[in-house]
Amino acid sequence: MPRTLNVTVAKVGGSLLRPGEVDKVLGKVVERHLADDGKLVIVVSAMKGVTDTLIRAYDEGEPRLIEDAIQPYLTEAQRLSLGKLGSMIEGIGARLKGLVSIRELWARDYVIVHGELLSTMLAEAALYNSLGVDAGAVYDVGIVTNEDWGRASVLGVSSHYVRHRLTWALSRRSVVIVPGFLGISLNGRLTSLGRGGSDYTASLIASYLNAPRLIFYTDVEGIMTGDPRIINDARLIPSLTHEEAYVASLTGAKKFHPGTFKPLIDSDVHVVVTNPWSSSGTLIMSKCINTPKLVSISEAGSIGLVSLKSGYAVTVVGCVMGLDEFRREVYLIIDSYGPIDVINDTEGNAVTSIVKDQDVAVKLAKELHRWVVSWIR
Ligand code: ASP
Ligand code: MG
Repeated sequence: MPRTLNVTVAKVGGSLLRPGEVDKVLGKVVERHLADDGKLVIVVSAMKGVTDTLIRAYDEGEPRLIEDAIQPYLTEAQRLSLGKLGSMIEGIGARLKGLVSIRELWARDYVIVHGELLSTMLAEAALYNSLGVDAGAVYDVGIVTNEDWGRASVLGVSSHYVRHRLTWALSRRSVVIVPGFLGISLNGRLTSLGRGGSDYTASLIASYLNAPRLIFYTDVEGIMTGDPRIINDARLIPSLTHEEAYVASLTGAKKFHPGTFKPLIDSDVHVVVTNPWSSSGTLIMSKCINTPKLVSISEAGSIGLVSLKSGYAVTVVGCVMGLDEFRREVYLIIDSYGPIDVINDTEGNAVTSIVKDQDVAVKLAKELHRWVVSWIR
């Protein structure tokens, strides 16, 4: 598709959207992108912890938890003197309280996507009313899905709707705010795209618009060579290919939605994962730097290896994993940990080993990580 719009798509993660911070974070994101005279689409997640609370509220049928879920929004509305927004949030809260006891399939998705809807309302008010930015919200951006509740699939017609709706909205405003994580089914119901789905919303929008830039703003500086909670000398990865990033998210790295990087494969969207206050970050581009990139670790069942009910998957990601000399070194390490299985990604971007026990998986991940960083200068 020809590149017609100079638009940046910026996804603002829930970890950044905490009470006391929302206006500062959004102000910083706008400041970083409007200098170049282009347009900006901001995809927002729910505020930190809100989706978990909404899910519990629905699953336990507990209206009191709705109060907890909307509290961070009320706090921000009050702090920013947005009185009208505060009463709107209370009204939505009252409606959600009535919905948590409805045991219909659509009701759960309807409730759990409200974090993103409230974030969109708050972001619009914080930018337009408090910061004076020419910003407006688009609640239904045109992402159409099936009704596979809890993890709806996006339908192809979405590209057409999203392009039209955003081209129109951006012709009227400099900044457009869109809720992540949700779609609308052909029957007109709200659906959710699965946990972490705001990442996926942002990458779909960037690919539909063929945006020159897509920035994932998060509370860390970028994608690391290993999970810092397990690997204490994990480093920031300077660059990954779209395919490497896709495989990394499939195997559980940085909790990206597994579909996130798929729409970007073969595109020339320039992707960065970074923090709003950082000048470094991880660049995601088409050119492969010839080193292994990262090690991820997760429960085998959680990354789609459904045939394995137990066990832990340790994966080395890197475009060099298709090359014999690199693979041989990895096999040698893996072999001494008695793996149940070793799986090569068909595109040559990853080698996954399955081991039974968590402590063995952690030791293996640490050793593989030492090998990975030995390649990175
Ligand atoms: N708020 C949703 C979740 O927690 C989506 C997202 O943040 O990406 O899964
Ligand atoms: Mg996330």
